[in-house]
Parts: sequence; C-alpha cells; structure tokens
Amino acid sequence: MKILISEIPDEGLELTIDETLESDVIKLVSPVKGQLSIRKIMPEVVIQGEITASAELECSRCLKNYTSEISAPFIVTYHPAEELKAEGKHEIREDELETGFYSGDEFDITELLKEQILLNVSMKPLCSETCKGICPKCGTDLNVNKCSCSLDKTDSRLEVLKELLRRE
Ligand SMILES: [Zn+2]
Ligand SMILES: [Zn+2]
Repeated sequence: MKILISEIPDEGLELTIDETLESDVIKLVSPVKGQLSIRKIMPEVVIQGEITASAELECSRCLKNYTSEISAPFIVTYHPAEELKAEGKHEIREDELETGFYSGDEFDITELLKEQILLNVSMKPLCSETCKGICPKCGTDLNVNKCSCSLDKTDSRLEVLKELLRRE
C-alpha cells in the first residue's frame, strides 16, 4: 500500500487499514486493521495510529502455538533521506521516539505496518499468564497433566516441613 507524499492534503490524511500482510518473521492469521492519520509537516511526515492483528505465536513456556491479539499504537516521524547526507544538520528531537526516513515522493505503508506489529510482539510470549509450562525433566505439559517429577519435588519439600514441625 503506497501513498504519494505530494498528494497528502495540508489538513492531513485519514486512512482506514484493512490489509492482509505476509511476513517471514511472524505468522499473521488475520488482516491488519486500524486507523492511521498522516500529517505533512514539511519536510517531515508524521504517521500516527493504532493497528491490531492476530498472530500465531509459540508460548515460551509450554511451546504450544496459540493465537494472540496484537495491538500497536504508534507515532513515527519520517524525515527525507537527503537529511542523512547533510550531516549534523538535523538533530533528532527527544520527543521523536520513533524515526524513519523516506526518499522521493512515494511512501510504502506496508513496511511500517509490519514493523509496528513486530515491535509489539512480546519477546517472551505466553499462552496465558498462568501457563505452567512443561516439566524440564520429562516434558509433560503441566497445564494438562501432572507428572511424578514435580510431585516428588513437592513431596520432599513437604516432608522436610513435616520433619521440622515434628521436632518443634
Ligand atoms: Zn503456554
Ligand atoms: Zn516431569
């Protein structure tokens, strides 16, 4: 999805996003949806918005695939790539948390959407906050079954406690 910077009106551009995107890095299982507002503050282009998409992730504890709703709010300021050449001319202000560059008049929004989705995927995805994971000893999925390894551990701790109580 491309926009031409020269065609962005002075009052800005509101875009409704409903795009099916392919990514090598993440498996998206729904279209990316949301709202973008694009403003031209020449020579900069500021894109603000919020997008959502469903992605299939692998739980970092139990290693099962699950579907996660990813929500990505963002503000990105794009500078003309020529500014990079004019060294030291442009200082990135502190309030510009995210910065990108554009060259020419054409601007591809698809890359922006992919980037923002990826930025909002957890580094340690969890199918549930309370996911018990798999037993490191026998590999049993502890969300579904109990295994004797973990029972042993609990039992021995309890035994120690009982022993201490007995002595007192
Ligand atoms: Zn899990
Ligand atoms: Zn086990």
